[in-house]
Amino acid sequence: MSIPRVILKPKRAQPFFGRHPWVFAGAIAAVAGEPADGGEVDLHSSAGNFIARGLYNGQSKIRVRLYCWEKDRPLDRDFFRARLQAAIHLRNDVLKLGDPAGACRVVFSESDGLSGMVVDRYADWLALQFTSLAMAQRREMLAELLVELLQPKGIYLRTERGIGKLEGLELHDGLLCGEAPPIPLQIEEIGLKFLVHLQEGQKTGYYLDQRDNRQAVAGLAAGRRVLDGFCYTGGFAFHAAKAVAADVHGFDASEAALKLAREIARINGLERTEFVAADVFEELVRLAALGRKFDLIVLDPPKFARARHAVPEALKGYRRLQKLALQMLDRDGILVMCCCSGLITMEMLEDVLAQVSTDAGREMQILERRGATPDHPVAVSCREAGYLKCLIGRVV
Ligand code: SAH
Repeated sequence: MSIPRVILKPKRAQPFFGRHPWVFAGAIAAVAGEPADGGEVDLHSSAGNFIARGLYNGQSKIRVRLYCWEKDRPLDRDFFRARLQAAIHLRNDVLKLGDPAGACRVVFSESDGLSGMVVDRYADWLALQFTSLAMAQRREMLAELLVELLQPKGIYLRTERGIGKLEGLELHDGLLCGEAPPIPLQIEEIGLKFLVHLQEGQKTGYYLDQRDNRQAVAGLAAGRRVLDGFCYTGGFAFHAAKAVAADVHGFDASEAALKLAREIARINGLERTEFVAADVFEELVRLAALGRKFDLIVLDPPKFARARHAVPEALKGYRRLQKLALQMLDRDGILVMCCCSGLITMEMLEDVLAQVSTDAGREMQILERRGATPDHPVAVSCREAGYLKCLIGRVV
């Protein structure tokens, strides 16, 4: 049976020869054959040359996601097994993140040649997320392969809000196989215990991408008065507390996250860490007005810019946060500014910091420009995956 073909418009082939995996509807001239949504297609240039094999979705703006640049290779069980093995090899053998009590991202979509699929391992359980219809259709096979390769106690399906509409995908969170995870589930991260609510927590329950940035903050925290803004379950706060910060205050709007944070404080014997439910913008205004001072301020807000037109407004948000933080930092004070909006670049964040420090008549240095942990790698052919930035500055 011949595979349906998707033929590109003239001059649109270059990114795909360069292995970018997303073929948007606007780049397509014609479709030969009748591909089913989720079915295999071959991508051809306008001159008729084979480029890559992918999976089709007529309901998505990303009409084809590409997986394989080898001609005539079916996207079957063996293909996906090899891709999953390669992803697991990176985490377990190269990065040494295979500690059974630990947690890491095992599969990161395009970055692992598996567009539309994310797998996070939390000790013995896996959280599986689909962002494409075609991968979601293959969920049973993919779950079986994960069981074969990782032997988890269970696999739980989590779905990001909004994705159903983008992909024409109807999915419900729930146990895919094995035992249900305990609520909450315990993991270890660099010498600390964390509790993860895999069923209902934000993202798949925990922000694994910040692991090494927390460690970097811990290295600067000894003896300092620390403010962890947008703390969620206290990732930065606890690493700072363990590194013997003078005191640590965490703020977040989510009561559910703070409840878990207080539990995490107890199991680690770090009860001195204080958590307050608050809007961080309002809290910073209040604390600054009271003349409060800190020596290390971490700000890790949610994504402010989801679309390009939202970037200027998002930058105003970062400016406000940085300005307020700077008022509470004296000489040698450290500001850790994180940003998980892919549309906002490190350069934009640095520009904001430069403006804020000039306006305040304060001199600042950049100590570190950091990204996500390496279990969230970025394929050079699809650098959109490099969303997380962590800028560490010092007041001179
Ligand atoms: N730093 C955390 C992750 C932060 S994610 C970690 O290391 O795990 C962003 C957090 O911001 C979420 O927990 C969310 O509840 C919180 N949040 C969003 N808007 C907020 C606001 N205006 N004020 C306080 N918290 C907010």
